[in-house]
Amino acid sequence: MLNCKQVAGLASDYLDKNTPLKWQIRLHLLMCANCRRFVKHLDITRKMGAGLEHSANIPADDAEQVLQKVKTKIHAKSSTD
Ligand SMILES: [Zn+2]
Repeated sequence: MLNCKQVAGLASDYLDKNTPLKWQIRLHLLMCANCRRFVKHLDITRKMGAGLEHSANIPADDAEQVLQKVKTKIHAKSSTD
C-alpha cells in the first residue's frame, strides 16, 4: 500500500501514464481525499502550463499559488460580465 508521500512523488508519472504503479495509486486515490485533490490540482496546473518549460515539476506549494491566481483572475473576469 502506497502512502501519501509516495503518491505525491509518483503523481507526475501517474498523470503521464508513465508508472507501473498506477493501480496502486488509483487505489490510494479512492481512499484518500487529500491525494485526490493533490493529483487533480497537479493535473490542472500541468495542463495550464503545457508548453512552459518547468511545468512538469512545479512543487505542490507553487501549484497551489498558481491555481489561486487563476481562480482570482477567473473570478475578476466573470464579475465584469
Ligand atoms: Zn494520500
